[in-house]
Parts: sequence; C-alpha cells; structure tokens
Amino acid sequence: MTYSQKAVLVGGDARYQVIDAPFPEQADEGTVVVEISRVGVCGSDVAAFKDGKPYTPYLSGHEWAGRIISVGKNVTLLKAGDRVLNCTPKACQECDTCVAGHGGRCERAHLLSMGTHPHQPPHGAYAKRIQIPAEKVMRIPDELTDEQAAMVEPATVALHGVRRKPVGLGDVAVVLGGGPVGLFAVQFLKLSGAKVLLVEPVDSRRALGDALGADGSVHPDDAESAVGAFSNGLGADLVVDCAGLAATLEAGPLLSRSGGTVVLVSTPLKPVTINPGIWLGREVSLMASLAHLNPEFYVTIELMISGRLQTAPLIDKTVGLGGLQDALAQLASGGAVKILIDPSLES
Ligand SMILES: [Zn+2]
Ligand SMILES: [Zn+2]
Repeated sequence: MTYSQKAVLVGGDARYQVIDAPFPEQADEGTVVVEISRVGVCGSDVAAFKDGKPYTPYLSGHEWAGRIISVGKNVTLLKAGDRVLNCTPKACQECDTCVAGHGGRCERAHLLSMGTHPHQPPHGAYAKRIQIPAEKVMRIPDELTDEQAAMVEPATVALHGVRRKPVGLGDVAVVLGGGPVGLFAVQFLKLSGAKVLLVEPVDSRRALGDALGADGSVHPDDAESAVGAFSNGLGADLVVDCAGLAATLEAGPLLSRSGGTVVLVSTPLKPVTINPGIWLGREVSLMASLAHLNPEFYVTIELMISGRLQTAPLIDKTVGLGGLQDALAQLASGGAVKILIDPSLES
C-alpha cells in the first residue's frame, strides 16, 4: 500500500490537519475499499474543530456514502461496484453482552462504531478512499441518491433518540436545537403523530423547521411560554435535546410536564451543573441516546425512499475537500445546517 492520498483530521491541538494516508487499492481480508462519493460534515466534527478536543481520527468524516473498489477475502455479501454507506454493524451475537441478551449494546459493534477497533483506518472519509471492516457498511438501494445516503447516518441518530421514548398520538414534543439531527427529530416526531415545537435561536433554522412540518418554532427566550400555550399549561410530554448545551440541559425539565421525559441525543462536552430539585419536583425521567442500531438504518432509508423523510432542504451546498476548512468555519458560526464534501471535486 502506498501513502499517496491526503486525508483531513479535525480536532485535537491542530484542529485541522492534512495528513499523508495510505491509498488502499486491494482490500485486506474481511475489509472493503470504498471510494467516497459524499461525506457530510457532522456537528461533532465541527465541535472538535472549534474546541480542539481530542477526537478519534476515524470519526473525522463518518457520515459517508461511496462505491466499493475492492473486497477482501471472506467478504461474501458485498462486491466491487456496490454503493454503500457507513453504518453501525449488526450485533455480533458472540460477545458477553450479546450472549447476555443485550444485542443492542454489542461490544464489538460499539468498538467498530467508535473507531477504536484495531482494524479501523487512521482517518475518516475526508479522503478519496477508505478501507474498513466489511461489517461497517450497508448497501445503498438504487432509489437513494448519494446525497440522501450521506444523510442516513445523522438521520438515524435522530431516529434512535426519538425511539428511546416513543410518543403517543397528539403528545406534545419539544425539540431543542435545529441542526441536522434536530430537524430530522422534528420530522420523525411528526411522523409519529406528535405535536412538535422546535426551539432554536437561529431564524433560518426555525424557518426550516416550520417548512419540515413543525407545528411551531420559537427562540429559546420564548420557549417556556410557547410550550405552555402548546400544552394547556401542562408542559411537554417529551423533550428531545439535540443541542447538547448546558443551557438546554437546564431547559429540559423546565419545559417538561410533571412525569415527562427528557431524551439527551446531544450532551455538553464538559461537566455541567444541574438543579436536581426541578427534576425531582416534576419527577422527570432522563434518558440518554447513543448513536443508533443497525436495523434502524433500514427504517431511515425506507422513509427517505418513500419521500416521508426529507433531506434536500437541510443541505446548503456540496464542496470539494479543499473547501472543508471553510465549511467547518461556516458551520461553527451557525451559518449553515449541513455541508457535504465530494472528494472528487477540487475545492
Ligand atoms: Zn455524526
Ligand atoms: Zn456482540
């Protein structure tokens, strides 16, 4: 293997670093080599870029779709030419956690997803090609475009969060944060029959939430009164925190009804202080939502193909790898929702 491609790593002290990376051609056993067609810039990439926090190199560009160039030995279900996207692997059914009956928490799937498995590449998909274990990819149906396919992963983060605490028909749900995951959460909650209020400080993102079906959208300063008006003064049955700020963690129980639930899809990067009395006084349940499960990707894909889950309104533009640094800066300033990278473009 030759070191003849450039890959970009975000986060850490360097925050933005172009490295010389292997240019995979023939896949090793159990792996596939994929030519990247689109990779979405994730909010966690942006956070790592902004704050310089240590970040797993493999996660630098993890919302991707591409085409298989080569399959290694013992890869039986995939072939060169297949269009694939990056997904959470199926539960292995062999690790202690799987054997104990908790397949949704499979240790092997977790290691592969977090990029800490020994066979992971030293970079993510901010590169022309990537070589990864075959179980990390899923075939893309013909009906799905590359742009849609690159949005499947962040959409499935929202799906998993919404499925952590299913809403009843007519329940009041509040989504905190109108980034890509929040805007997908709005759509999933509407599909579930909830009455949905989006809380988001940026005007254009609120307008997007309205266009995607939210029943209302407000600035965080107006959230408490708006939730009251939405719920006959009761508060929300469900609050889904897709912003992950100290302020949204504080707002969650204040917007919740007595006995309601707050689901954390995003969390603050640093420890924060909470007021336990509010959680206790309203007996609010707190649930965390980490990434997604393999079968949930099929749910997202089917909803995209049927047109019930929209992606195009969330995508601001597509640029080449040369435009990645500007894209990160633009996203960090809140000036865009989702920017896709096409590594075949010059800039
Ligand atoms: Zn992501
Ligand atoms: Zn397992």
